[in-house]
Amino acid sequence: MLAWLWTRLSESGTRVSISGRALSRFPANDIERLLRAQVLTEERRADTWSVCAECDCGLDARPVEQSGDAFRACCPHDQAEDVILQKDDLRRFSVDVDRLVARIAASGNLGGAVARVVDGLWLLGDTPSGHTVVLSIDDDNLVAPGAVMAIRAAVGAKPIMAIVHDLSATIAVRLREVGVEPHKIAAVFKAGSDGTERLVLDPPSSAPRLVMTLSAQSVTLDGRRLDLPTQMFALFRLLIEQSV
Ligand SMILES: [Zn+2]
Ligand SMILES: [Zn+2]
Repeated sequence: MLAWLWTRLSESGTRVSISGRALSRFPANDIERLLRAQVLTEERRADTWSVCAECDCGLDARPVEQSGDAFRACCPHDQAEDVILQKDDLRRFSVDVDRLVARIAASGNLGGAVARVVDGLWLLGDTPSGHTVVLSIDDDNLVAPGAVMAIRAAVGAKPIMAIVHDLSATIAVRLREVGVEPHKIAAVFKAGSDGTERLVLDPPSSAPRLVMTLSAQSVTLDGRRLDLPTQMFALFRLLIEQSV
């Protein structure tokens, strides 16, 4: 939901109004949580609906008529184009961009504080592997004059990862040239075992750290061979066998 909201904000501007119908794809609990955290704020309900995709009625929006518990967005041209709406579809929400950014950073368990670097560009914190993570409202923003300098001024020589909702190949190349590794937000958000999605930037290594080869009497740690005397090797073997 955080990645989806960020994408909506990036595409439609930070003053975007999100409809209850669009949010209905998410569990009610998740919406509640973001309302409580004031990432989302409920605004006045909509009393109009967008016009049909191809319509020549000339309306800016179509009126919504209530009939019992349901609502109907009426097309003056063609009744078959009417849209039946539920009450929650007409809810409207605004997004607090700074709170959303803080929420995204918190989901990634990043160290350090969230800070706005320049307009549309935030420092989220550092990953355990020592990368500084920045979030940008779009990829153009990252190659705007002074943007990378402003990040460097704030974080020093640390490697930088940048997150954007969409990334052009040209901009990706320009960013890598100046030491910034760009990622699309959809690629770095993963659902955890509890179903909550969170920012995952350092994929856990699947390679075993300690490898013991009995035939060669060798032990390697993180790919580096340990020089063990025979007795120490026997002790290692004993400990490993007892631990599995
Ligand atoms: Zn129309
Ligand atoms: Zn119509």
